[in-house]
Amino acid sequence: MRHIGRMTTVYDILIVGGGLNGPALALALAQGGAKVAVVDARAADSRGATGFDGRAYAIAAASQRLLAAIGVWPALANHAQPMLQIKTTDGVVGRGPAPFFTTFDHAELGAGPMGYMVEDRHVYAGFLAAMQGQDKLTLISGQSVVAQDVQAGRASVTLADGRVLTAKLIVGADGRASGVAQRAGITRWGWDYGQTALVTAVRHEKHHGGVAHQYFLPNGPLAILPLHGGHHSSIVWSEKTAIAAQIQALDDAGYLAALHPRFGDFLGDITLAGARFTYPLNLTVAKTFIAPRVALIGDAAHGVHPIAGQGLNLGLRDVAALAEVLTDAARLGLDIGAADVLARYQEWRRFDTTIMALGMDGVNKLFSNDNPILRGLRDLGMGAVAATPALRRAFMGKASGVAGEGSPKLLRGERV
Ligand SMILES: Cc1cc2nc3c(=O)[nH]c(=O)nc-3n(C[C@H](O)[C@H](O)[C@H](O)COP(=O)(O)OP(=O)(O)OC[C@H]3O[C@@H](n4cnc5c(N)ncnc54)[C@H](O)[C@@H]3O)c2cc1C
Repeated sequence: MRHIGRMTTVYDILIVGGGLNGPALALALAQGGAKVAVVDARAADSRGATGFDGRAYAIAAASQRLLAAIGVWPALANHAQPMLQIKTTDGVVGRGPAPFFTTFDHAELGAGPMGYMVEDRHVYAGFLAAMQGQDKLTLISGQSVVAQDVQAGRASVTLADGRVLTAKLIVGADGRASGVAQRAGITRWGWDYGQTALVTAVRHEKHHGGVAHQYFLPNGPLAILPLHGGHHSSIVWSEKTAIAAQIQALDDAGYLAALHPRFGDFLGDITLAGARFTYPLNLTVAKTFIAPRVALIGDAAHGVHPIAGQGLNLGLRDVAALAEVLTDAARLGLDIGAADVLARYQEWRRFDTTIMALGMDGVNKLFSNDNPILRGLRDLGMGAVAATPALRRAFMGKASGVAGEGSPKLLRGERV
């Protein structure tokens, strides 16, 4: 990895945003031979520096293969908790989970764990370490992009300190409020869920056994996600925004007292073990993922509800598709910023993204509700899933991102 000096510098691809999807794309492209720069507003050492804070990602099996192919997985493997089962249930506060469980077991897929839970601090550190080994990759951190310009045959961005970087293509990996998209005139659709996610971690007496739980409570889902070591779980607890604000304002004892009746006793005694974060939840999808010499990936293209822990996984599917389209085009001597090249990327990703975004929206609406008719309907639906192995396998295949013929190479564990 190189750190640049000053003045105009020319790259093949400029990636705005060094969260997780930006670095993943940069690594894949650099391995494919492209000269890439990643610009991130945050300082590289500002993330994960505080130690364990409980934030973690469910990384689907296909995403794990991508991380292995781009050289990040070795740094994560020792911190990863395999997810062996996912149990979903309708919950009632104070009464614990309803008797109705739908269990998704990795053994039914016969292809290893459904995914892994890995803490944010390890994921980001893994990306940073992998980027450091790449000569073709430049990371500029602690700098914001403040302007962009597209001209015939090239595009450029201006940094807050006045430097100008030029490339054939700008990739917006700059999150839900993507400035790259705004500056390119790309508008968005979506809505506010009126829910906020309370995120923390608990320590529990009993071993979690690699089981993830999703309780569908009337105000929003509660996910209990197993972390490495067996006695910690990450909590993503969605509540109506006003209630979430009240809970967040409580002291730790009050917060735990509010969580306990929802969590139940199945893991024995619980104590709070992480920092306490809140994330307002909305759906925000870009109306198009491409514009002249611009492509969007990750949350910049689609910010979804965290109900199925699919946000980052969706972003990594963008990474896999865009890296392959651009690398193939470069090998054929084509202009990687040309409209027809970018159209291939958009075609590959739009359908999957829309289905996934609306699917999670629908599940959230169906379950975040105490209407007795909807309660009956979802019990019926969950009953059908519980009783039908083929339906369960279809659900698990989607959630673990099983990648068959026609999927991008990186999702199958191959380099571009
Ligand atoms: C509560 C919650 C739980 C979640 N759990 C899961 C999970 O279990 N599994 C999963 O797959 N996903 C999960 N997600 C979703 C996941 O966190 C996101 O999809 C993912 O982090 C998005 O990564 P990104 O790189 O696209 O964007 P971001 O992480 O938002 O990164 C954007 C980057 O762009 C930079 N930036 C912005 N503007 C500029 C600028 N002008 N110049 C330079 N840099 C700029 C920012 O500094 C930032 O570093 C969860 C989300 C939430 C809210």
